Amino acid sequence: MSKLLIANWKMNPLLSVDAVTLANKIDVNAKKYKSVSVGIAPAFVHIPLIPKPKSVWMGAQDVFWENPNDGGAFTGEVSLDMLRNIGASFVIIGHSERRKNLGETDEMINRKVKMLVKAKFYMVLCVGEPLSIRSKGFAAAKKYVASQLKKDLKGVNNFHKLGVVAYEPIWAIGTGKSDNPELASEMAEYIKKLTGADVLYGGSVTSKNAESFLMKPSINGALVGGASLNAQEFTKIIEIASKV
Ligand code: PEP
Repeated sequence: MSKLLIANWKMNPLLSVDAVTLANKIDVNAKKYKSVSVGIAPAFVHIPLIPKPKSVWMGAQDVFWENPNDGGAFTGEVSLDMLRNIGASFVIIGHSERRKNLGETDEMINRKVKMLVKAKFYMVLCVGEPLSIRSKGFAAAKKYVASQLKKDLKGVNNFHKLGVVAYEPIWAIGTGKSDNPELASEMAEYIKKLTGADVLYGGSVTSKNAESFLMKPSINGALVGGASLNAQEFTKIIEIASKV
């Protein structure tokens, strides 16, 4: 089964010229691995400066939950139509860094999911437990993730047709401590059972450990942060995804 890799560039790189260069390199390299679907999610301000990629999808790292035709009084927010107009074709929502640093709640995320489903726009919904929960055991982590999904997908029936879930244990993000692939795979199966959706793994994925996650049939791809900021490293991950 073909794998999906999503590059989450977070608040990087600082200069738009570097974002353009990185996007172009990844676009050129991804062309060689047609069996892998690759998406890049640059910062909002960089998206319109990047020439339309040929081999990868362009996406965004967030979107506001309302999408009024005529704009609106939502200071600092970016609407789905604005993203569409600059060439985005998917969006990441519910990233743990937004949940933690910006107080984004499951209720807010649920509003975003509903808006995106109504608009038929593809989304990557992030869930995952903090260390305080995982340290109570894997069953506690499953319960936590199930509760997030229940709230995030409340009143939504056809999420699986329009989105993928990224399972990202919070303690594994940007720490260099990736999850145990067996447990990540078990969680992916569990999430699939709950949602019917495909599942990505995210959390310190590099070219060194990518194979151990991507070789699992239940893991449909990866959400890659730090390692996606280096074109060579990210290309290695794409190559690995093409071979599993
Ligand atoms: C992420 O930002 O979603 C992520 C998984 O980051 P990293 O790969 O750096 O852990």
